[in-house]
Amino acid sequence: MPYSGGCLCGAVRYRLEGELGFVANCHCSICRRSHGASVATQAVLWKPQLQWITGEEGLQCFQVTTGYNRCFCLHCGARLINYPDNLAFVSLSINSLDEVTEELLPSMHVYVVSKPKLFSICDDLLQYDQLPPVSPRE
Ligand SMILES: [Zn+2]
Ligand SMILES: [Zn+2]
Repeated sequence: MPYSGGCLCGAVRYRLEGELGFVANCHCSICRRSHGASVATQAVLWKPQLQWITGEEGLQCFQVTTGYNRCFCLHCGARLINYPDNLAFVSLSINSLDEVTEELLPSMHVYVVSKPKLFSICDDLLQYDQLPPVSPRE
């Protein structure tokens, strides 16, 4: 099933091909600060699955840590993707999709050790203090 999404102002639009990998709620301090949210829900996919329809030139990428890019729309600031320079995957902000369907519900919480006390986890999903060894679907 093809997915589509984009930023808040509509300048940046993308399409995804194939199945998305695991979806996780990330509680790390970098995601919290860059999203301005208690948790960032991200799906993992292979880089070639992501195709920009419009506005790729409007993406600004920022490296908090060397070699790991966090990209947002220059016009509206919406966070869209993260990706490492040296690996073949992209982490996509699930809430930038036009429709978040049931198969995209998160299956785990990651970096739970960094979670602030103001946010309570009220589900039975797996919890990890780091990123478990996972990869996009083949
Ligand atoms: Zn935008
Ligand atoms: Zn994170």
